[in-house]
Amino acid sequence: MNAKDAIFEGKLFGSMRPDHERNMELALREAATAFAADEVPVGCVITHPDMGVIAAAHNQREQLQDPTAHAEMIALTQAAAALKTWRLDDCTLYVTLEPCPMCAGAVVQARVPVIVYGCPDPKAGACDTLYQIPTDPRLNHRCQVIGGVLADRCAAVLSDFFREKRRLGKK
Ligand code: ZN
Repeated sequence: MNAKDAIFEGKLFGSMRPDHERNMELALREAATAFAADEVPVGCVITHPDMGVIAAAHNQREQLQDPTAHAEMIALTQAAAALKTWRLDDCTLYVTLEPCPMCAGAVVQARVPVIVYGCPDPKAGACDTLYQIPTDPRLNHRCQVIGGVLADRCAAVLSDFFREKRRLGKK
């Protein structure tokens, strides 16, 4: 196989790489931590090809009383600190729920080349569902989007959370 074919093959199978599921498992673990802390259970990890997992975070909006404290925003800050640069050029961001407009915008700002998400978000999804921010050709930077990795489990943790909330008569 020549080099060009090898690159093509890498792209072709990129969306099926087993590390996508393994890293989504780590993001699901973060979502479970959020659930236990009574936060909407969304988890995120960011990986670097040489350094492995450089960020792992979960939604902390309630705990921090910060509307920007989504899992992805916290993970982006952690990753930038780990790499000592805001440019996350070679990284992949894994998140259990399709990013919202704020987070999708931040991922593009950080120059992350690949977003992998679990389940779609019909109410706020800004990667495929309502908007396509990472792939919008009008923006000057773009990011590949791979959705649906461990989607059922990522959706289940959210529906369990909101069912529990309704049962307790809160949200
Ligand atoms: Zn968000």
